[in-house]
Amino acid sequence: MELTPVMRQYQALKARHPEAILFFQLGDFYETFLDDAEVVARELEIVLTSRDGVPMAGVPVRKADLYVQRLLRRGHKVALGPQLERPGQGKRLLKRDVVRVLTPGTVIEDGALDAATDVLLAAVWPDGERLGVAWVEAASGELGAEEIPSTQFPALAARLPVAEWVFPDGWRPTGEIVGTLTDRPAADFSRDRLAARFPEALPDAPRAARAAGALLAYLEATVGDLSHLRPPVRGLEGGTLVLDAFTQRSLELLAPLRGEGGPTLFSLLDRTKTAMGRRLLKRWVLAPLASRPAIEARLDAVEALLQSELDGALVPALSRCCDLPRLRARAVTGGLSPVDLAALARTLDAAAELAGALASLPAPVPERLAALATALRAAPAALAADVQRALADPPPPSLDLGPVIRDGYDPALDALRGEADVVRGRIAALEGEARQATGIPTLKVGYNRVFGYYFDVTRPHLAKVPSDWRRRQSLANGERFSSAELDLLADRLAAAEDGIAKRERELFSGLCRRVEEALAALGAVGDALAELDALRSLADLARRNRYTRPRFTDRSRIRVVEGRHPVVEEVTQFVPNDLDLGQEVRLAVVTGPNMAGKSVFLRQVALIALLAQMGSFVPAAEAELPVFDRIYTRVGASDALTGGLSTFMAEMTEAAEILNGATSRSLVILDELGRGTSTHDGMALAWAIARHLAERVGCKTLFATHYRELARLAEATPGVVNLHAAAREWKGEVVFLYRILPGVGERSYGIHVARLAELPEEVLREAQRALDEVESVPSPARPASGAQLPLFGSEEHPAVRALRDVDPDRLTPREALDFLYRLRALAEGE
Ligand code: ADP
Repeated sequence: MELTPVMRQYQALKARHPEAILFFQLGDFYETFLDDAEVVARELEIVLTSRDGVPMAGVPVRKADLYVQRLLRRGHKVALGPQLERPGQGKRLLKRDVVRVLTPGTVIEDGALDAATDVLLAAVWPDGERLGVAWVEAASGELGAEEIPSTQFPALAARLPVAEWVFPDGWRPTGEIVGTLTDRPAADFSRDRLAARFPEALPDAPRAARAAGALLAYLEATVGDLSHLRPPVRGLEGGTLVLDAFTQRSLELLAPLRGEGGPTLFSLLDRTKTAMGRRLLKRWVLAPLASRPAIEARLDAVEALLQSELDGALVPALSRCCDLPRLRARAVTGGLSPVDLAALARTLDAAAELAGALASLPAPVPERLAALATALRAAPAALAADVQRALADPPPPSLDLGPVIRDGYDPALDALRGEADVVRGRIAALEGEARQATGIPTLKVGYNRVFGYYFDVTRPHLAKVPSDWRRRQSLANGERFSSAELDLLADRLAAAEDGIAKRERELFSGLCRRVEEALAALGAVGDALAELDALRSLADLARRNRYTRPRFTDRSRIRVVEGRHPVVEEVTQFVPNDLDLGQEVRLAVVTGPNMAGKSVFLRQVALIALLAQMGSFVPAAEAELPVFDRIYTRVGASDALTGGLSTFMAEMTEAAEILNGATSRSLVILDELGRGTSTHDGMALAWAIARHLAERVGCKTLFATHYRELARLAEATPGVVNLHAAAREWKGEVVFLYRILPGVGERSYGIHVARLAELPEEVLREAQRALDEVESVPSPARPASGAQLPLFGSEEHPAVRALRDVDPDRLTPREALDFLYRLRALAEGE
């Protein structure tokens, strides 16, 4: 096929960026062609067209940010190939080139980033049994690194929201990887590259240093300048509570298990006022602390904020802050706009205000808040003042839409502006003078971009035009002329305006340089603002939902009084529950019918432990906890979670992970394990797994099951107790009390629950008949109390009848008490 010159140009650029979707500017559109076009049409849901048989899809240049962002979020890379020349007359082929390759992990452009989420680029350097892992948020310059045994890779990966992975050519880790994959030559993974920028970094983690080296190499190739990068921080320093990907999902930390947009722990917690605070809080949720002093330090800060009356000062000041960490990144790539600078100045002002507010806290000021106050006081106030003195108010969104600099700030600029005003005045005056001199009453001075300034003369007056004027343009009803004086003035004006633009740029880049010089200080201020915002958010939540401060001890006791599920309590009349697992108790089997509240209870315990280790107050009247090293949560493998594996296989894989990973300091939550197979297999496996956890691992385990047979584990195994979710019969219907009580529930009510679900009556009858048959066969595994509640024409319990008959309004306190004793007697069948 004969290619047009434009298509040849396209192909040359595309050949240089085969891995990216090439956005090729044609006038007002970025066009994509061939395979790229098919991807773009599908992902962006735009029309796929075709020209001369070539598939193409285009997006308006104006809205390119939005579309690029969507493609990046879906894991694609985009090469931007704009027109580098203005279309002019006579030019056939415009110059175009790829000016920037955006990849999911290297974006720093404001418009292409999600403000609420860290966007990480990570690299891995494998070496023997260990891996070096390094990660960076290109948009804020925060760099982390860690060296771990390869087996810990999935757990580390789970807490990093990695958008793009950089691996040495052809290498892949075992297990599932989420994110775009990028191969780089092994030579990029070099310690020297890191050492050149941070000579002191990662002395005892050579593999991590090489991974970090690869990140620097890749960022240099995609973003360019890297001076906003901050020295790498060891990722697991101080210790974090390990939550694997399954646990994150089953506790619905960031995303609901089913559907989209439902409430999550994070959506409940997030009462932050800034994007940087929001991202930090999200990090805290995925990586709570695992060291008691660090947790107590955060709790101290939250408590002090909660008890203070500072919200009135903190909220408005925080709300004025910009996304400082990401603004820093734009500063080094020359991407700051006047609006950015104004936002920066506002933020530094707010930082000073916040430092002042914190200073009013009564002594002793908790350590974290004192540290934040110090960091905020160190904000470069002079920079803020200078920016405010210099910038026009309001600042224009971009440099060419000036004026950028205020009058009175720079004498040279003022002089140029004065000159421009004088010349403009002269040009205006010239109109009147020329009218007088020529006697043309309709004469006007006009301006356009192509011809500059001119005199406009209408046709009837053409004869009066002086002979030394030059004709510039003919129109239907007149002609345009210039004169020597007008040309002179126009030249003077153009020179003044050029001078103004140049001077404005100089002054603006001077301010930007000041920002660059302050990068390190700004990094510290950004950290402090984010932390203060996140801490205040926790305090706000605690106040609003009446949370209390958890107590940590070195004993492995969990004691929760009136605990609630933080998310479920938002949408229901919630029944609080207690839990007391002493040091010697390792496993609680929680039985009870379906829908009785087992799962909510289990997750509530896990969430209380997680919140506590984040340094948050917790939804309970009281909570005493040990510091856990890991939390494992498995809720009955739903189809949504298994991703193609059979439910049973998935369950067993997860169980294996727990048995191998849990320690005596872990918290394990297992919900309905063994459902995916036959009753006998499932029960036997659940039994063996529970026993192993209780006897060998010695972690704290909550084990919910509808296999009532598992309750007998307590008889066989020390350290195992039974709990049950209480249900009662009411007129032949089952009523859930949502109370978790000691011991084994009496009945399983399965068929009653089926009736609630409106199964046809014939089916229920048949089920009852089958059940009667099974239950008439003696089975050693089934406890004697396994009787089902009669399903049809049930007799009302005498206690219930008594309750129905009583009129509480007519009872004296004494009679009420007597009645209570009678009820208990009836309940006990006396
Ligand atoms: P199970 O795991 O026993 O099948 P769930 O824990 O899923 O039951 O609870 C079923 C429903 O009961 C939940 O969706 C919730 O609406 C309600 N529920 C559970 N626990 C409570 C509680 N403590 N207070 C109020 N409602 C509850």
